[in-house]
Amino acid sequence: MKIYDVTAPIFKGMPVYKNKPEKQPDIKTDTNGHVTESRISLDVHTGTHVDAPLHMINDGETIETIDIEQLVRPCKVMDLTKLDGKITKNDIESYDIQKGDFLLFKTKNSFDQEFNFEFIYLAEDAAQHLAHLGVAGVGIDALGIERAQEGHPTHKVLMNNHVIIIEGLQLQDVEEGTYFMIAAPLKIQGTDASPARILLLDQIIA
Ligand SMILES: [Zn+2]
Repeated sequence: MKIYDVTAPIFKGMPVYKNKPEKQPDIKTDTNGHVTESRISLDVHTGTHVDAPLHMINDGETIETIDIEQLVRPCKVMDLTKLDGKITKNDIESYDIQKGDFLLFKTKNSFDQEFNFEFIYLAEDAAQHLAHLGVAGVGIDALGIERAQEGHPTHKVLMNNHVIIIEGLQLQDVEEGTYFMIAAPLKIQGTDASPARILLLDQIIA
């Protein structure tokens, strides 16, 4: 069985949203010469992470309310590396997308070495199409599922329709196809997101 680790490494100087310095993780290591202990301070949207509705919806649900069975399950990786700018309804309409699918969008973003202000995002009309089809979740290889859309309609359409959002995937080594996904956010209570280790297995586990 092949395991694809599609998680971004976390380190000082890593790519963060819009290169904002305050979004960099702060890692402090202490040692007394015998015992070493580190302390980490980071934004919950650092690197590869799962968003919760509270991120964009007042009084929305928090990260621990997402059932782990929604995150450990088969998923479909869609190769959209030919696209520029954004993913529209027109770009995905011809794909076999079923109710309950969890879709991961592989785009040119997966090949960026640093934060790209022009990252490819999911347009509102595509989000509406996917919500209408009843997909369970979507993942993208950018630190945001959207950019440059006034009022964050993509997040809101997805969250209002209980579509889980994963951001910050690294899919450069993963080909289009069906995988078994293990997406395990830290069990932080009450927040709007959590960093997650995300693995794709090339065998479906029943
Ligand atoms: Zn996020």
